[in-house]
Amino acid sequence: MMELLNVNNLKVEFHRVEGIVKAVDGISYKLNKGESLGIVGESGSGKSVSVLSLLRLINRNGRIVDGEAIFLGKDLLKLNKEELRNIRGKDISIIFQNPMTSLNPIIRVGIQVMEPIIWHRLMKNEEARERAIELLERVGIPESPKRFLNYPFQFSGGMRQRVMIAMALACHPKLLIADEPTTALDVTIQAQIMELLQELKEEYGMSVIFITHDLSVATNFCDRIITMYAGKIVEEAPVEEILKTPLHPYTKGLLNSTLEIGSRGKKLVPIPGNPPNPTKHPSGCKFHPRCSFAMEICQREEPPLVNISENHRVACHLIKGESK
Ligand code: SF4
Ligand code: MG
Repeated sequence: MMELLNVNNLKVEFHRVEGIVKAVDGISYKLNKGESLGIVGESGSGKSVSVLSLLRLINRNGRIVDGEAIFLGKDLLKLNKEELRNIRGKDISIIFQNPMTSLNPIIRVGIQVMEPIIWHRLMKNEEARERAIELLERVGIPESPKRFLNYPFQFSGGMRQRVMIAMALACHPKLLIADEPTTALDVTIQAQIMELLQELKEEYGMSVIFITHDLSVATNFCDRIITMYAGKIVEEAPVEEILKTPLHPYTKGLLNSTLEIGSRGKKLVPIPGNPPNPTKHPSGCKFHPRCSFAMEICQREEPPLVNISENHRVACHLIKGESK
């Protein structure tokens, strides 16, 4: 399989009054062409930062302190602003959680879908307009030639997210980053949007990085899952393996605390405690204060991320693998 993205030892810090936050603390991951990768964790786990920082879409007080991110042979972290702008919206597109804040409230939706095409000089106005109408129709906006002229406030939340998806696809990206794209929507709409994304992923042959706190949504959509906790990857495996043999207590906790479709009657068990204070991470395994399997060594030593099999990695003292 052809590799599209290779992130190596990425470290991102935020400087806050209370201290330095190591939001992403030396993580490595890969993405193949046409593959969809789910990055899952609670809020503050570093899942968004681990991807959005590659496009420098993080707060100004955030800084990439180490690492590389090779996308089609180029290190994204070394590109200048102009080079990055040429990639953003064209080769790599993003959809965010809140379509209301991502869409411009005073520009007609159709024009917003046209914008990336014009900006990247892929088509002339008339052609871009036709393509935008086609895209709106494809993502499920009825009467798209007419609704092209509407403003975002004339759409429901789900429809606005469809417009965002049309915008993201306008330039036929190789990689779509979806950062909690359905979190703000109600459950039925969520399922419809996920279904649409699934169809479009196949139609466009895109790779997708899907960032979510909801492991069950990720397992329905993705080929491979990365679980993150306190800025680190704690487990990575193909979806079937995550579902059948999750190894890290945190991944197990996430599985037991979310509802799988069709799993009526299953008892939901929340993970005890809260994610750690980001400026004061616990010693040893950062999950130890919440882990019911914690041993003495867990407070002292941070478990390394080790390979259990060719494509299953885990960081937990309970599991012995081969050190990389
Ligand atoms: Fe739990 Fe210890 Fe494994 Fe951490 S290393 S997840 S505390 S058993
Ligand atoms: Mg986030």
